[in-house]
Amino acid sequence: MNNFRYRMAQFFAGRTGVDSLGRFITFLSLIFMILTMITHSNIVYLIAVACLAYSIWRMFSKNYQKRYSENQWFLTKTAKIRYKFNPRDIRNKIERAKYNASQRKMYAIFKCPNCKQKLRAPRGRGKIQVTCSKCRTQFIKKV
Ligand SMILES: [Zn+2]
Repeated sequence: MNNFRYRMAQFFAGRTGVDSLGRFITFLSLIFMILTMITHSNIVYLIAVACLAYSIWRMFSKNYQKRYSENQWFLTKTAKIRYKFNPRDIRNKIERAKYNASQRKMYAIFKCPNCKQKLRAPRGRGKIQVTCSKCRTQFIKKV
């Protein structure tokens, strides 16, 4: 087993191996494989095989510099998308939504009739006089 791993390591030395772009292309080929099963389309199947072949070819490619710059290009191109689907970012959004929901329970949120500035006041006080924080307009609001 160790001998096998040693030989594998030697084989992969100086080759690209699996990087982000490689993983993405492998993932794409998987998607196209599934699509092939649904559509039975030869073209979709060819794309799937091409993606798979390309990702395998990249893995074994010895032009590491070129593959590296391709991967960097891929990473910069997809930075925004990857950020959007970043699990930490999604968790933050959920936390913010939860916070907003709890705020809505405790505070009445309304807009200034004059400048449309978003305002809030604690609920359950009945009719209160509100002064807009932006334009200083005063109005009566039931909260
Ligand atoms: Zn205002």
